[in-house]
Amino acid sequence: FSRLKAGLSRSSSSLKEQIAHVVARKKLDAETLEELEEALIMADLGVDTAAVLVKAVAKDRFGKEVTDTEVREALAAAIAKELEPVAEALPHRARFKPQVVLVCGVNGTGKTTTIGKLANQAVSAGLKVVLAACDTFRAAAVEQLQIWGQRNGVPVIRGKEGADPAGLAYDALEQARAQGADLLMIDTAGRLHNKQALMDELRKIIRVLKKLDPEAPHDVVLVLDATTGQNAHNQVEIFKSMVDVTGLIVTKLDGTAKGGVVVALARRFGLPIHAIGVGERIDDLRSFEATAFARALLG
Ligand code: GDP
Repeated sequence: FSRLKAGLSRSSSSLKEQIAHVVARKKLDAETLEELEEALIMADLGVDTAAVLVKAVAKDRFGKEVTDTEVREALAAAIAKELEPVAEALPHRARFKPQVVLVCGVNGTGKTTTIGKLANQAVSAGLKVVLAACDTFRAAAVEQLQIWGQRNGVPVIRGKEGADPAGLAYDALEQARAQGADLLMIDTAGRLHNKQALMDELRKIIRVLKKLDPEAPHDVVLVLDATTGQNAHNQVEIFKSMVDVTGLIVTKLDGTAKGGVVVALARRFGLPIHAIGVGERIDDLRSFEATAFARALLG
């Protein structure tokens, strides 16, 4: 918890300060609530969410004297309530051999790093993992996944530069099967400037995987960078229009004051949030826990 709190310190210190400032009048009147709502919107919690949260804080407290600690606690409880339904670790689906997880997201959001971290957790849990470098367009992406593979001691299936990503995904699933792998994670391209091409590519990967396993991919995880704030919402919309996104992982919560975006995303999309990234190191992926996150967000 303390590391999560440290990771989210930029989000929490600004919110904490704002709340202390807003509640300085000591009385929870209409003006205070309005300012509180504004502070929450500024912290990227979103307009709708801010309204719901403020209502929850006002209930039984309106017109009464309050301390900032009390307001923070009430907010944390209300936020946790919003987050609880989406706090859901990436499930291990043992009936699939391997479970196929397609990882997508805009370049730079932390896809490859997150795959490296997830692989580490899976290996630690005793699972046999294979990675597939299907962002064949960027040589650097393939190299990076290779490094994560070495770090975790797991094979990385890669093709020639510019190889067909779908063909490679097919080969990867065949090889993962042959090796008796439990988990295959597929890294994909994230060139959002050419949406149609990206959509065709992702859909072709999925189509081809289904030839080997009609239920694959079993999970489609979208990786989002918290520092992009409201932009993350657009990214969810775009990827949802391309593929059936089944869950989210939000990265870079260590370096941003925009941690509130996670709450807004949870409310708006209701997609499971599997984990959060709080740093660049292999163990900087945390399970997403509603109460801990809400408390860390508020300092
Ligand atoms: P991709 O293009 O989506 O595969 O993104 P990468 O995995 O290459 O990550 C892009 C950059 O973000 C790299 O420098 C990573 O080290 C960094 N990164 C990824 N996740 C996190 C995180 O949770 N916190 C921080 N601070 N950096 C991260």
